Amino acid sequence: MSASQGIIDLRSDTVTKPTPAMRRAMAEAEVGDDVLGDDPTVKRLEALAAEMLGKEAALFVPSGTMGNLVSVLTHCGRGHEMILGADAHIFIYEQGGSAALGGVHPRPVPNQPDGSLDLAQVEAAIRPDNEHFPITRLVALENTHNRCGGRVQSVAYMDAAGELARRHGLRLHVDGARIWNAAVALGVSPARLLQAADSVSACLSKGLAAPVGSVVAGSAEFIRQARRNRKVVGGGMRQAGVIAAAGIMALTEMVERLAEDHANAQRLAQGLAELPGIAIDPATVETNLVIFSLEREDMTPQELADGLAERGVWLFPIGGKRLRAVTHYHITPEDIDRALLAFQEVLQA
Ligand SMILES: *Cc1c(COP(=O)(O)O)cnc(C)c1O
Repeated sequence: MSASQGIIDLRSDTVTKPTPAMRRAMAEAEVGDDVLGDDPTVKRLEALAAEMLGKEAALFVPSGTMGNLVSVLTHCGRGHEMILGADAHIFIYEQGGSAALGGVHPRPVPNQPDGSLDLAQVEAAIRPDNEHFPITRLVALENTHNRCGGRVQSVAYMDAAGELARRHGLRLHVDGARIWNAAVALGVSPARLLQAADSVSACLSKGLAAPVGSVVAGSAEFIRQARRNRKVVGGGMRQAGVIAAAGIMALTEMVERLAEDHANAQRLAQGLAELPGIAIDPATVETNLVIFSLEREDMTPQELADGLAERGVWLFPIGGKRLRAVTHYHITPEDIDRALLAFQEVLQA
């Protein structure tokens, strides 16, 4: 089918390609000019996303990065402060866009190994009213937590963070790029998991395999303002129903099957735990991300990745001794077993 045929691509769930059903829906999508409010397929996607995420309204955006950016720009103005994890995607991987473009000051607090924030530390970071300080406006959480290995944040924790935010007059945003994985792993609806959140950004183009796009959800008034902010950052799209059609298939056909990706990630983690020189606790693998360490003096993570690539297995070193493998729609249990054989060969060589 492509140049990558035969490759076991564990670099990310973003490599997933649209399903045949998505391609058919895209070809047949009814479209219009969405900036003028005329695209019925985009409207259907937004209504469906709002319902699934348990919010009044939703907005289709081209990427998760834009979803987080317009959310932060909508909650905060210049000189406002956002409390978030020091390992948050928003803090590490989005060019500091909310500071660069919105003048929003980030206030990182450490992530715990399970991806959560210590809510006492969040509370301690809230600024008192004093002209020396920025004005705290927003708390941003991430679920599942990417850099912490796809860890799931529980309903109790999300509710407690929302309660803390409300008590201090703050807003709660959730970077839910993989909120679908979190909900499937917990066996709850995304709406319940996000009950305490004022806004969420959720990806359609990761594990759900849509080719493009994310959705932002929140109150009707929040989404009205977010729509303005999407336009100013260049995210107003015209006949976007062509891609929204794939997003609808992603939400209706591709969420429940994420459990298969989680089972494959667990299979990989248990296999890796048996290998000499690899450190991983399979109990910490809760969804589709598998982060492990290479504990060898005579081999670097890059050398391990290169050796695997020669055997058709692709993954990324992510700094220090760590590497990351991600399971997704195109990865089967047989692929996991083949990948583990490749690991054995490289580690023995
Ligand atoms: C991938 C990701 C994003 C950004 O999504 P893009 O569509 O790649 O811009 C945001 N947050 C988290 C946690 C992610 O994993």
